[in-house]
Amino acid sequence: MRGAVIHSANDVRYEDRPDPVIIEPTDAVIRTVAACVCGSDLWRFRGLAPVAKPTPIGHEYVGIVELVGDAVTTVKPGDFVVGGFLHSDNTCVLCEKGAHANCLHGGGFNGCQAEKIRIPNADGTLIATPGMPDDDLVPSLLALSDVMCTGWHAAVAARVQPGSTAVVVGDGAVGLSGVLAAVQLGATTVIALSRHADRQAIALDFGATHIIAERGEEAIAKVRELTDGVGADCVLECVGTEDARLTATECVRPGGTIGLVGVPHGDMPVDALFWKNIGLAGGVAHVRAYLPHLLDLVWKREIDPGKVFDLELPLSEVQAAYEAMDERRAIKVLLRP
Ligand SMILES: [Zn+2]
Repeated sequence: MRGAVIHSANDVRYEDRPDPVIIEPTDAVIRTVAACVCGSDLWRFRGLAPVAKPTPIGHEYVGIVELVGDAVTTVKPGDFVVGGFLHSDNTCVLCEKGAHANCLHGGGFNGCQAEKIRIPNADGTLIATPGMPDDDLVPSLLALSDVMCTGWHAAVAARVQPGSTAVVVGDGAVGLSGVLAAVQLGATTVIALSRHADRQAIALDFGATHIIAERGEEAIAKVRELTDGVGADCVLECVGTEDARLTATECVRPGGTIGLVGVPHGDMPVDALFWKNIGLAGGVAHVRAYLPHLLDLVWKREIDPGKVFDLELPLSEVQAAYEAMDERRAIKVLLRP
């Protein structure tokens, strides 16, 4: 089979790789229907994280089951399946508490931008759709593999509930998904911070009630204007930089909560949070915990998180997909074998 391999910064090749096989009886092998490039993949592409040796890359996927190990019972060859960017057994003491991202027997993926993928812990990772999806549903199903569940995690961690005011910091695919999540969880004021017209349009489409294009102090002043002068109940921080985290702490009201899902690249002023009684939660999204509910919403076409994909390319043009995201010509690129 063929798949993407990152050789060094700015160098992702589509090349021959060994066909995945069943290694453990709990494995499945899927034939990829769609994969995509994640903002976190760009760290290596941009040379900001090291690439020690050529490494298969990618961790988001949907596909059709080809093979299953003897112990797999919940999916079978021919099923269309959705799974998260981490695998989990869905049975350990942490999975039972909904902390699937930290499963005692789980782990991550490398190499999902490929024609086929080996899925460990298939029963605890994959969910089969009720039938073969229409083609136009594929982007939204793929979004569940990471960005939609990560945006959802931000909203859950920020304790969004009916009537909440929420601010979303970050207008990438995760931030936009966070807008959709906050709206779904009942927030009545959802403020998206975004300076890009195309991203603002998606945020509004997902239900944002306000867009703030200003930055820094001006942005914070506008947030206060919209929130009785005190700041928002909930802030979804979907970037991870020190600047974004500072903005989050300025936008939240005393007694409010910040949900952090941006991969951390910098400090957080925890002492400042103490005096304002600000809660802090978040981390790596528990995709498998959220997947059944969100898959149901997508299947019923009640949400359309696939709108974050604004470019589709053949998997063989994976290098071009990375370039488009690196140069911000695309929010998120969908790849089809
Ligand atoms: Zn587990």
